[in-house]
Amino acid sequence: MIRFDAVTKRYPDGTVAVDALSLEAPSGQITVFVGPSGCGKTTSLRMINRMIEPTSGTIWMDDQDTGKVAPAQLRRGIGYVIQHAGLFPHRTILDNVLTVPDLIGMDRKASRARAMELLERVGLETRFASRYPAQLSGGQQQRVGVARALAADPPVMLMDEPFSAVDPVVREQLQAEFLRLQQELGKTIVFVTHDIDEAIKLGDQVAVLNVGGVLAQLAAPAELLSR
Ligand code: ADP
Ligand code: ADP
Repeated sequence: MIRFDAVTKRYPDGTVAVDALSLEAPSGQITVFVGPSGCGKTTSLRMINRMIEPTSGTIWMDDQDTGKVAPAQLRRGIGYVIQHAGLFPHRTILDNVLTVPDLIGMDRKASRARAMELLERVGLETRFASRYPAQLSGGQQQRVGVARALAADPPVMLMDEPFSAVDPVVREQLQAEFLRLQQELGKTIVFVTHDIDEAIKLGDQVAVLNVGGVLAQLAAPAELLSR
C-alpha cells in the first residue's frame, strides 16, 4: 500500500505542482493518475521513489515513512518505467534488464535466468537478448523497459506514460499484455497517463488530477464511465 498524506510539492520558482494530495494506492492494484499536461502526475509519481522531495506531507509505503528510508534502499523495492523506455544504448538488452540486479549485487546466474524468462513473459523473443536497444522497435524497447523494472521483483511499480510513445495498434497490445502480466504478478502499481481511455481501461482505481495539482476525483473506472 502507498499512501499520500497531505503531500505538497512547491518548486523553487513557486509553482505548486501537487497541492495537499491525500490518497491511497492499495496493494496488488493498479492506481492510475490521470489529467491534463502539467497537472502534477509525474511530480506525484517521482515523489514516491524520492526522485523528487515533497515540500510537505508524508508518503507511506506500508507502515514506512518513505522520507525516512535511504533512497537507494527505497528504490530496490520500486520498479520504474518511463516513456521511451530510457534504455542504456551501449548495453545489450540482457544487460539492460540486469541493471538493477547487478547494482544490488544479486547472483548473476540466477538473475540472468530470471531476466531471460522475463523477456519472454513481456513478449520478446530471447534472441533479442544480445541485441542493442537501437535494433529494436519502440514497442519492443518498452517491453524491455517493463522487464528491466521487474528484474529485481519489486513489490511496487511506477509507470510514467509507458505506452504513450508507440502507435495505437502496438499500444493496445502492450496494454493487454500488461494487464495479463499484472494478473499473474499482482504488483502495487501507480500508473501515470494523460489518456482518460487508458486510465479507465487499466485502472482498478483512477485519481483524476486538475491543473494546480489538486485531486478532483478518486473513483473506480465504472464510476467515471457512468458520470
Ligand atoms: P504532468 O506530469 O501532469 O504533466 P508535472 O508533474 O510534470 O505534470 O508538472 C506539474 C507542474 O509543475 C507544471 O506546471 C510544471 O511546469 C511544473 N514543474 C515540473 N517540474 C518543474 C521544475 N523542476 N521546476 C519548476 N516547475 C516544474
Ligand atoms: P532520468 O535522469 O532519466 O530521469 P535516472 O538518471 O534517475 O533517470 O535513471 C537512469 C535510468 O535508470 C532511467 O532511464 C530510469 O528508467 C532507470 N531507473 C531509475 N531508477 C530506477 C529504478 N528504481 N528501477 C529501475 N530503473 C530505474
